[in-house]
Amino acid sequence: MNISRSFLLKQNQKNYDMASIFSLIIRGDIPSYKVAEDDNFYAFLDINPVAKGHTLVIPKKEIDYIFDMPDAELGAFNIFAKKVALALQKAVPCKRIGECVMGLEVPHAHIHLIPMTNEKDMDFRKEKLKFTPEEMKEIADSIASNFI
Ligand code: 5GP
Repeated sequence: MNISRSFLLKQNQKNYDMASIFSLIIRGDIPSYKVAEDDNFYAFLDINPVAKGHTLVIPKKEIDYIFDMPDAELGAFNIFAKKVALALQKAVPCKRIGECVMGLEVPHAHIHLIPMTNEKDMDFRKEKLKFTPEEMKEIADSIASNFI
């Protein structure tokens, strides 16, 4: 996916001067393992998960810094993330869903939702987990089937 990702980014550069990689994902120009979607928000599996089911939730409207979001949008964003978290908790055995916002790598506001059984599950410095495409699809479908 990395090769096609850089290829697509170059290909689309003229059309997406301001586009973040996540906007390309929303538009379907870069594939993702979709978990949930509505008119304003999109949720998909992180490509380098720190835990099984590690999900990213993003607004479709491109904005870099989450705390620049207007209150109403930020509220709706968190409510959507909560619905994804509840589905994730049903799909992946864990104690609870951890939530984290960083945005140091991708300048498009996003919430990390991470199934946790202990605090190490939220450690972004550890080696990332690897799943086959089939496993990623199965995880995404399982979360999606629990999304209400
Ligand atoms: P942050 O910006 O919060 O520091 O991290 C960005 C997150 O986005 C990372 O966990 C990284 O693995 C994930 N990510 C970066 N590019 C892609 C991509 O093309 N697809 C997916 N599914 N996740 C990505």
